[in-house]
Amino acid sequence: MERLYNFSAGPSVLPEEVLKQAASEMLNYEDSGMSVMEMSHRSSVYENIVSEAEASLRQLMNIPDNYKVLFLQGGASTQFAMVPLNLMVNSKKADFVNTGAWSKKAISEAKKFGQVNIIASSEEATFNYIPKLDPNAFDKDADYFHITTNNTIYGTVFKNLPDTGDVPLVADMSSNILSEVIDVSKFGLIYAGAQKNMGPAGLTVVIIREDLMGKAEASVPSMLQYSIHAENGSMYNTPPTYSIYIAGLVFKWLQNLGGIEAIEKINNQKASLLYDFLDQSDFFKGTVVKEDRSLMNIPFLTPSKELDAAFIKEGEKRGFVNLKGHRSVGGMRASIYNAMPVEGVQALVDFMKEFEAAHK
Ligand code: PMP
Repeated sequence: MERLYNFSAGPSVLPEEVLKQAASEMLNYEDSGMSVMEMSHRSSVYENIVSEAEASLRQLMNIPDNYKVLFLQGGASTQFAMVPLNLMVNSKKADFVNTGAWSKKAISEAKKFGQVNIIASSEEATFNYIPKLDPNAFDKDADYFHITTNNTIYGTVFKNLPDTGDVPLVADMSSNILSEVIDVSKFGLIYAGAQKNMGPAGLTVVIIREDLMGKAEASVPSMLQYSIHAENGSMYNTPPTYSIYIAGLVFKWLQNLGGIEAIEKINNQKASLLYDFLDQSDFFKGTVVKEDRSLMNIPFLTPSKELDAAFIKEGEKRGFVNLKGHRSVGGMRASIYNAMPVEGVQALVDFMKEFEAAHK
């Protein structure tokens, strides 16, 4: 059977080259006589895998030396609590922008630990835009300022970062990390679940400025303290060894492609294929305001729910899977992460043209 075009929002498509390499190394990784899954995380072979993965990520994102890279577990959802537990330590206040369901979850966890100030929200329009921010509303005394850079469900992205001055900017970058060039030094902390642009589920990457660590109260469980993970080189306990190995291969794949600048160009090309088609169609339409459209997640509708369902069903028959939109938006959503080839998006657009002609 052929591989399908998988538009899943996550876990999602991985580069075929990476999967092939993993398959070829499955039984005997680099003459170790075992699979990566079977080796001790303390073995020198495995330590090498982790340090290479970290070095590749640092090179790709140009991560400054005063930032630690942590390979953790628990998904981005654990970060919703870990961030306030470690950072809400002075004024115990934090500013948030509410741009969707994941922002809301981050907000409700943070509220358990301190005072949350919602600077702006686009909830009244089902989060189909990124709200304009009034810097006068920012709390200079806040312990941090939290944004969700890319909103997986709604398909919006922050094109401009808020200038939060001395207040550390914290970003949930789960669905757009490694998709476009960013300046890590503008952030105090970045976190992302791996299962979209980095690798399999089970790994969460945290990039944290060193001065933000070590301030959690002693009562915070060890597994939830950034400083403990940092002091132990992400080996305080058994890390998600296989997920880190695959993420390392994905990082190498990106390096070989020419890094983030190169993939950003391809991502722009892929997103334009779909957006240009949506913009000229009087059958399909995108749901997001133009200036805030994501490169990674593209929601769209046909003129009716019945046609949406027919499109999804017919698409599945043609090998386009996981196109159903989130229930809060309806319609379709094409997630076109780094590993989705240009041909996949082109084939989807060709199918959309055909469907439009048949049903208009
Ligand atoms: N934040 C964003 C932006 C997401 O897209 C997701 C998952 N789709 C999450 C957080 C939750 O991630 P996890 O399942 O890794 O906890």
